[in-house]
Amino acid sequence: MKLSPWAKNISPSPTLAVDARVKELIASGEDIAGFGAGEPDFDTPAFIKDAAKEALDQGKTKYAASSGVPALRSALAEKYRSFNGIESAVANEVIVSPGGKYSCYLAILATCGPGDEVIIPAPYWVSYPEMVKLAGAVPKIVEAGDDQGFKVTPEQLEAVITDRTRMVVINSPSNPTGAVYSREELEALVAVIIKHDLYLMSDEIYEYLYYDGLSHSSPASFSKEAAERTITVGGFSKTFSMTGWRLGTLHAPAPVAKAIGSIQSQTSSNATTFAQWGALAALEKPDLARAALDEMLIAFDRRRLMLLDGLNGIDGIKTLRAQGAFYLFPNISSFGLASNDFAARLLEEAKVAVVPGSGFGADDYVRLSYATSDSIIEKGLGRLRDFCAGF
Ligand SMILES: *Cc1c(COP(=O)(O)O)cnc(C)c1O
Repeated sequence: MKLSPWAKNISPSPTLAVDARVKELIASGEDIAGFGAGEPDFDTPAFIKDAAKEALDQGKTKYAASSGVPALRSALAEKYRSFNGIESAVANEVIVSPGGKYSCYLAILATCGPGDEVIIPAPYWVSYPEMVKLAGAVPKIVEAGDDQGFKVTPEQLEAVITDRTRMVVINSPSNPTGAVYSREELEALVAVIIKHDLYLMSDEIYEYLYYDGLSHSSPASFSKEAAERTITVGGFSKTFSMTGWRLGTLHAPAPVAKAIGSIQSQTSSNATTFAQWGALAALEKPDLARAALDEMLIAFDRRRLMLLDGLNGIDGIKTLRAQGAFYLFPNISSFGLASNDFAARLLEEAKVAVVPGSGFGADDYVRLSYATSDSIIEKGLGRLRDFCAGF
């Protein structure tokens, strides 16, 4: 049987692959210290679940408008205005999709085509290059290692822009590095994007997960010119521990949002109807939402510092102090192993699960998620220390 060029060209998500292997080992009775998870370990807040249950009971179980339930799109427009600072945001520029991941794909499909180039800073979230390829476009990877805080510079962008360049992808706070761009850094990148009349896909899925007193900046809020070319991706997965609900959002300039709505209407149709009604509660009850978020942030921050201290106490490992999301991305190059081999040996020999950096375009690193319990962090650090001492 013949497969399509798209199918032949795509690799499966390596983060989900690690997850599957770890679940297999756990099912066979192994005691694994898992740092692989790409999702919060908290349950979805009860008031959101209650709202979804109520929606089910009310029969909100049918197709909805394909771009999203109108009440949710309106509430999201208000959130894009008040939280993200995109003053002009209105409901018809907002799309609700089956996941932030799908929002990213829709954004790329609506703006990039065969031969177009999309600039993706590495380390990057695993799915961006694959999505770009599925659109027939060409990923242009720009390296931003720990020596530059995992952040790409305006000069680096300038150096790779050609007349085929169509879009730049920025993800702050970042998965896998946890790195955060300052407002000034973002403004400098946006200036280059405007100068060359490019699109910006700003993946802001971790927009509420900041530490060390930092807070979020949305490029689309910088100016009218910035808003006109920025697609701001968000979602409920990371903020409200709703990964399994499959609910993403985006804000885009009206013509782009319209095109995205058409693509969605012909592919996924609407995101799950009662899930959208549950998510609406998160926006309509900001006090409950804030309380749930703060509880999670306090735990994440404690674990972040615990893991960071532990990692930096291990000879040969160098870890940047990440200030967002829930990941650390230590440099393991001093051990002389490819990240796949390092992670595989660590899992099989020391029963510690991490995600190799190779899938993120950064083979000198591995990703550890601290969306896990304090006791697993403690246990995992001990095992990692022993493993590294064996080199
Ligand atoms: C988790 C994640 C998403 C989207 O997740 P969904 O569950 O599809 O909403 C998007 N971008 C990044 C960088 C992520 O880590």
